[in-house]
Amino acid sequence: ARARMIFPQLSHHAMGRRLDDLSPLLSPTLLSRHETPPLLALGQPARWFEAHPHPLQNRWQQDIGMTLLLQDVTERYQLQQQLKQFAEIDALTGLLNRRMILQHLALWLQATPVRPLSVLLFDIDNFKQLNDSRGHLVGDEMLAALAPALHAHLPQQAWFGRYGGDEFLILLPELNESAALAVANQLNHISQPLLAISLSIGVAQWHLALSQNELLHCADQALYLAKQQGRAQAAAFSWLENQPCTTLVKSSAAEINGRMESELLLNS
Ligand code: GH3
Ligand code: MG
Repeated sequence: ARARMIFPQLSHHAMGRRLDDLSPLLSPTLLSRHETPPLLALGQPARWFEAHPHPLQNRWQQDIGMTLLLQDVTERYQLQQQLKQFAEIDALTGLLNRRMILQHLALWLQATPVRPLSVLLFDIDNFKQLNDSRGHLVGDEMLAALAPALHAHLPQQAWFGRYGGDEFLILLPELNESAALAVANQLNHISQPLLAISLSIGVAQWHLALSQNELLHCADQALYLAKQQGRAQAAAFSWLENQPCTTLVKSSAAEINGRMESELLLNS
């Protein structure tokens, strides 16, 4: 009865007919051997089934057909999805957690190192004050409301993650520094009227000479500068051909301050 519920086509009329004639779900690919059994969503409401095909042979070892064992693994599948969600998604904001956003960055840099990519690292301004004056729960609500409001205004290919506390990281594939700065400014235009929250945003563009950590360090330095310059703004690092952030990272604090003056493009 369960089988008929999933495949209503199954009746005595189906005897002797090819499985893939009965249902497009039972494709030859599905019926071929796989390392890990294919998963199928079947029925209404959908349940998840693992498909285990086995060749059927006669006593002379000739293939005469196929048996397909469908094993209902719905509970296990749902539990796996839930665990994946816990491991990858920040519970409060619904964004990618730190581990995942960094993983996306690493994968992107590995797969497409020559394409443009910019990152935005931003931190909410005076968030402690908001927690102190209106309570931690209101602070939580703000974080939870801010994430989708900003997400809706990001380019489609952007990745958005919670970096930790009130700090967030956005990856902007295919965007150069000036395009990323425009996105950064837009984020402040959204958050200020909507939630009375302002953001300090550090922008850094990927450069082949930079390691992932150096790229993040660049963004972090730019964020620091945005805070120094009075908050509620974005700042970006730019670098000359032979003086990327790498040089800056290895410099002493005094040199860094000196270079910042000349190498940072400030957003007015
Ligand atoms: P600044 O403008 O320099 O960023 O000042 P700030 O007050 O925002 O200070 P900072 O970024 O250093 O501190 C972040 C604060 O965010 C500290 C902590 O109380 C608060 N915070 C971090 N995570 C959470 C959270 O999950 N919920 C709430 N409500 N507050 C959080
Ligand atoms: Mg802050």
